[in-house]
Amino acid sequence: MDKTLFEKIADREIPADILHEDDHCLAFRDINPQAPVHFLVVPRRPIPALVDLTVGDEELMGHLFVVANAVAVKEGISEGGYRTVINCGKHGQQTVPHIHVHVLGGRQLSWPPG
Ligand code: AMP
Repeated sequence: MDKTLFEKIADREIPADILHEDDHCLAFRDINPQAPVHFLVVPRRPIPALVDLTVGDEELMGHLFVVANAVAVKEGISEGGYRTVINCGKHGQQTVPHIHVHVLGGRQLSWPPG
């Protein structure tokens, strides 16, 4: 099967500003940032979307959020607060079919999202 865009980033076939890497996931800056700090946390395993999660994925998904917060602390946005987003499918406006957590911060965000 063809690699996803994010697998290619993990394999260094496409450049990215990588902020964190471990056996299970990596975090890198979003190429089109929507806030002063905007990075993605992506599992190495190419689960396409939230709808594809199955029993057994709990630990991995929890790990993504632990890493999201650790990187947010390093990026200096944890005190002011930040937002995590996982877009899913067409209505969720997911564009890359490899599950990922967006982390956005560094400015006042508004609610509700569009
Ligand atoms: P989503 O629309 O939730 O699937 O989010 C995909 C995100 O990936 C978007 O915010 C894009 O800006 C981001 N993106 C696309 N290509 C790259 C890339 N080469 N490096 C970093 N981020 C990317």
